[in-house]
Amino acid sequence: MLLQELRVEVLQANLELVRRGLVVYTFGNVSGISREQALVAIKPSGIPYDEMGPEHIAVTDLDGRIVEGNLRPSSDLPTHLVLYKAFPEIGGVAHTHSEYATAWAQARRPIPCFGTTHADYFHGPVPVTAVMEDDEIAWHYERNTGHAIVRTFEHLEHASVPAVLVANHGPFTWGVDPATAAHNAVVLESVARMAYLTLAINHDAPAIDRGLHDKHYLRKHGSNAYYGQAKDK
Ligand SMILES: [Zn+2]
Repeated sequence: MLLQELRVEVLQANLELVRRGLVVYTFGNVSGISREQALVAIKPSGIPYDEMGPEHIAVTDLDGRIVEGNLRPSSDLPTHLVLYKAFPEIGGVAHTHSEYATAWAQARRPIPCFGTTHADYFHGPVPVTAVMEDDEIAWHYERNTGHAIVRTFEHLEHASVPAVLVANHGPFTWGVDPATAAHNAVVLESVARMAYLTLAINHDAPAIDRGLHDKHYLRKHGSNAYYGQAKDK
């Protein structure tokens, strides 16, 4: 079987979304990419999570052609492919309709950074895409969803804000591998919920100060990061 290891990683990342309560029924999908082999592994379309094994994970090329197996890939595959092409260092993409993040997407509001949990992961507000035009929806809808995301990051760094809200739809997140993409989806949902509650308590709550935001983001990321255990470089 092609990409045995990546299939397992993609399966585990999909199951993580279920464990964390981010998906209902067969909603949601996580993929991973082998840059060396130029192949993508993604959740199959419409297979219940509790019946899914590594052998069910769909493997396609970067044009979305199935290269192994006969299960259809998730219908959101074209969105994932656009992101892999536009963001060359990412290794995983996750998509959910998790409630709070989706509520912000439906309200077409970026999630402001109100505290250090958000600042630890996202170096700025989580942006929302423009509303898609009728012709973008009528033809190649999933691919155009990817382009709407990429346009949102024309003046934003996708590496330091690894999440987006697709207007009237829901969140996409990414990371160095499928597990990180799923992890970011879980954190995003938590951050979205906390931001909602923050505004419920104080409608005029200000965003976090720049200094505290930078402190939290940069101690975990960036060249002088010191949070957690030292990693072998
Ligand atoms: Zn969706």
